[in-house]
Amino acid sequence: MKFQLLPSTFDENGCASARQHLSCFVIDDCVAIDAGSLAMATSSAQKKQIRDVVLTHAHLDHIAGLPLFIDDLFAKLKVPVRVFGTKEVIKVIERDIFNWDVYPSFSELKNEHTTVLEYRTFETNREFLVKHLRFKPIAVNHKVPTVGFVISDNNKTFALSGDTSEMDEFWEVLNVEKKLSALLIECAFPDELEELALVSHHLTPNRLKKELEKFTQKDCPIYVINIKPMYFDEVVRQVKALKIKNLEILKVGRVYNL
Ligand SMILES: [Zn+2]
Repeated sequence: MKFQLLPSTFDENGCASARQHLSCFVIDDCVAIDAGSLAMATSSAQKKQIRDVVLTHAHLDHIAGLPLFIDDLFAKLKVPVRVFGTKEVIKVIERDIFNWDVYPSFSELKNEHTTVLEYRTFETNREFLVKHLRFKPIAVNHKVPTVGFVISDNNKTFALSGDTSEMDEFWEVLNVEKKLSALLIECAFPDELEELALVSHHLTPNRLKKELEKFTQKDCPIYVINIKPMYFDEVVRQVKALKIKNLEILKVGRVYNL
């Protein structure tokens, strides 16, 4: 299994930069988790293959590319784009995005082959299949209903926290999983913005350290994701200062093979 965090910003030379404004992970070039930069940063091969998008929550930085992705593919789709989310998340994107005011209600539209958007609702703690992947959704602790996932193919398993603050259930589930090949966990703000992190339900390096003490798979590679770009350098410095074995910053754009 391979995964990649798609880029979402450009440096002064027009090349992808390490700053992560939007969140969109692609697994095996065919399944997306979140859709922040889905329309903008997918390769043409990924555009051809991705028809399944699994959402952690409905915040804009995680869904921004979804309307544009469907729009871009509208005439070519032979099967619908299937959007997986909890009923709370589906309700928000139907009400606030695909409402004809902000963007077309694609679930009502067909091209000459197919409907272009279908929803698949899932419940927390109930596994579901997406292509060759098994997803286990676990409620995490964010400002809005949000899930993290344990994701497995027949061979490997990894976990992704989504946006979150302190968690218990997530760790309870991970700690009884068979060996994980990777854990991706957020750390949005630097330590000096503890108050803002608390109010918005995100982690800081200090609080990430406390969270990782709850994780019993001590050899698992851990990658930090969802760092607010404005504070990127500071968060990276503070994460490195934690000196936690196997903890590093996930590289935007790099393909990770598990
Ligand atoms: Zn969020």
